Order: sequence, then C-alpha cells, then structure tokens
Amino acid sequence: MLKIFNSLTRSVDEFVPIEHGKVRMYSCGPTVYNYQHIGNFRTFFFEDILVRVLKYNGYEVKYVMNITDVGHLTSDHDEGEDKMEKSAKEKGMSVWEISKYYTEVFLKDVKLMNILAPDIYTKATDYIEEQISMVKCLEEKGFTYITSDGVYYDTSKFPDYTKLAQLDVEGMREGARIEFSEEKKNITDFALWKFSPKNEKRQMEWESPWGIGFPGWHIECSAMSNAILGKHFDIHCGGIDHLPVHHTNEIAQSEACTGEKYVNYWLHGEFLNMGDEKMSKSTGKFITLQSLIDEGYSPLDYRYFLLMAHYKKKLKFSIEALDSAKSGYRNLLSKLASLKKSENGAVTDATILDGFKSKFLQAINDDLNMPVAMSVLWDMIRSNSISAKDKLELAADFDNVFGLKLIEAVEKPEALAEIPEEVSILAAKRLEAKKSKDFKLADEIRNEIKTLGYDVVDTKDGFSINKSSS
Ligand code: AMP
Ligand code: ZN
Repeated sequence: MLKIFNSLTRSVDEFVPIEHGKVRMYSCGPTVYNYQHIGNFRTFFFEDILVRVLKYNGYEVKYVMNITDVGHLTSDHDEGEDKMEKSAKEKGMSVWEISKYYTEVFLKDVKLMNILAPDIYTKATDYIEEQISMVKCLEEKGFTYITSDGVYYDTSKFPDYTKLAQLDVEGMREGARIEFSEEKKNITDFALWKFSPKNEKRQMEWESPWGIGFPGWHIECSAMSNAILGKHFDIHCGGIDHLPVHHTNEIAQSEACTGEKYVNYWLHGEFLNMGDEKMSKSTGKFITLQSLIDEGYSPLDYRYFLLMAHYKKKLKFSIEALDSAKSGYRNLLSKLASLKKSENGAVTDATILDGFKSKFLQAINDDLNMPVAMSVLWDMIRSNSISAKDKLELAADFDNVFGLKLIEAVEKPEALAEIPEEVSILAAKRLEAKKSKDFKLADEIRNEIKTLGYDVVDTKDGFSINKSSS
C-alpha cells in the first residue's frame, strides 16, 4: 500500500486513486527565462520518483507538466516585471527566442538526469483561450473585480482560501512588508489578467474581454490541468515555495469556477540549499547541470546524490557530498560489473529474494523513502545468499524506481561520460572551419580538443566526440 505525505491533510495518507488503477497527475514545471539549476532539478527528480513509484505499483499514470512562458512576474505579489520580458530585454533576444532556447536546454537536461518525460508538456501561451474562459467563469460567479492594472480574484469570497497553507491572513496584514497595492481589496488577492502597460508594447499580449494584456501566473495551471486532466484529479506537485501562494491560488480559482474539489493529494519537495539559503535563479548564485558535467560529474552522479536524501528534508549542496555520491555510484557500478563477470548462476532461495523485494517495496511506499530503498539495494548486493544472476535481475528491477541506468552503465560505462560544453562548442567550430575549407584551423581545433581529453571523429552527418582512450 502506497502512503504519501499530503500537504492538504498534513499527514502521511494512504494513496487511493479516483479511478481504479489510474492516476492523473500534474506538476508545475519550469519558468523558461533562464537556465534551470540543480535545485529546480531536485524538484523535477522528486516528481519523477513519484511517477516511477506509482508505475512500479502498477498504476497507469497520465502525467502533465507545464512550461511557464508568460505571466510569471518578478514578485509573487503581482508587482514587478514579467520574468520572460525582462530576460529578453537583458539578453537582446525576443521573448519567443528566450522561451525556445531555455526550454530546449531544460528538455536536454531532463533527459540527462534520466527523468521520464511527462505524457504532455503544456505551454502557457498555447492555452490563452482556456485561461480567458476560466477568468470569465470566475467573473460570472462573482469572484473578481477590476483595478487600473488588471482583473483580480477577491479571496475573501472563497472561504476555504487558507486551507492548504493554513495561512494567517490577519498576521500577514499586520506585518505586511510585501508591496500591497492600494487597489487590492485583500492582501491575498491576486491577478487573473494583467493589462499591458499603457506606454509600453509588450512582446506577448492578447485581446481579452477586459482589454489587451496577459494572464496572471496562477491561472495557467488551473486552466491547463482542467483542459487535460479534468476538473478533479489525483496528484499535484511542485517545490515547497509553491504551497502558500501559487498552489493556494490555484485551488481558489479551480474550486470557485468548477464548484468541485480540485486535487486530492498535494505533494511538495523541499529545497536544495547553497549554504543555508535556497538555491535560486533570482540571486544569480546557482549551479547548472552542465557546469557539473564540465567539472567531470555525470548527471547520474547527481541523481545518486539526490537519492541519498528524503524529498521532504532540506538538502545542502556541496562538492564534497557530490564527490561522495559519485564514488558511491561508481562503486555500485563496479560491484555490478564484477557480478556480470561472475559465473555464479546458482538458484537462490525464493524466500530470500522475496524478502528483499518486500523490503524495497515497503521503503518506496513509505512516502518515497529512497535512502532506505538504496540501503536495501546495497544489502542485497552484499548478501552471500543470492546468486550473481539474481542480484543483477533484482538490481534492474529496483532501478525502474531509482533511474540510475544501472544495467546500461555496467554494459557501456563510457556512456556515463557526458561531453563538456566547451568541447561541443569547439567541435561545432571545427565543423564550420571544415565547411569553409579552412583545414589548418580545423586541425588546430582538433588538437585543442585532444588536449582536453577528447577525440573528434568525422561522420556522415557531421562528427562524434569520444573520450580519448589514453
Ligand atoms: P521555476 O522555474 O522557478 O518556476 O521553478 C521550477 C520548480 O523548481 C518549482 O517547482 C520550484 O518550486 C522548484 N525550485 C525552485 N528552487 C528550488 C530549490 N532551490 N530546490 C528545489 N526546488 C526548487
Ligand atoms: Zn503551477
């Protein structure tokens, strides 16, 4: 029986799906104005583990993740600039180019982390009509009011507003240091639709019954999940920072509009910290997956690092801890490689195998307790009572949840070595040089790549890069 911590009830609850054997799940995805950092990937990894655990338990999962490409403002209180428009201005690119570029990098990194792709990625800008319809629905039901800068949700009209985060609204008002627009009726009210500034042309803006503008950040998730998963679905996830504002507002919008319960289980992953603070894009102090690769780590070393902590505990990032995860992971692979070479095909007592299987299942079903599940894997590998063949089979079975590519990495260890960005850029330059028949430059670049420890080989379609064997 799977049990998960539900932020709504604040307890570890048995998971019971709405429809027998099926799960409908939604996660808040990236805002694509910058690189996703390894903190963001901690959250996407935890959501991936949840999907894998659901599948391991035999559920058929329909999983949706959104991509925020409009409407996320620099402040959570409907003030400030749109993060996308700001980034576009700073980088001298169009908003659409920014969105395309960072979405592509995100998708590449997701793959490198061996995170299973959701069934559907939805972009906010592809669902403008649905968002406008939901705002209309809220207007018709009397939940909105209009100010000089947009259409707002009146949170005092939704009695259950504070239920998810157990917000102390009175306390918020008294201690209000957050900017609180004069025109807002309540401190917790939020924008559903923002008007384009009068003296400025936005790159992304749409016609609406209230005037030209763009959707508020929260409405996209309510509208897209409703369009794809229906009014009422099983699981909604995100990082812990989404709980008091974004998810609280999603519930208010969805339940006020449909009149039904929105989501049964809310799951939130804790932060990855740098020092004592959350790793964050806005401070500029963050680490990308590519920078770890450039330092010689595999994205799966990082995955192993994440598996060593429970998703509801804060995790401090350090190179020392990552090094220790890297050696743990490489050690695991070398143990599996030696099992592969071993001839021991003796039959194992089935009760011993079942014992390990049930301990593993118990750990993953105990609110996704990966550190315990990892210790079951290690105990199983160290056991003297299991044949090499059975150990490998069981490791492959457990890896459906861990996602460490255990068997693949044992068979093809070179696949673990990702190519540093610097080397990829040089190889692309070399191809350009060859195309323009500058063979001298092409040779020089080949040598430079060689000194970095890689060989570039010409192929029919361009080139391939391998780690030098010497
Ligand atoms: P964003 O691109 O900022 O919308 O964030 C994408 C996801 O990463 C959200 O679910 C956030 O809650 C989550 N997130 C942001 N910072 C961190 C962090 N330091 N550790 C873990 N998750 C994070
Ligand atoms: Zn969301």
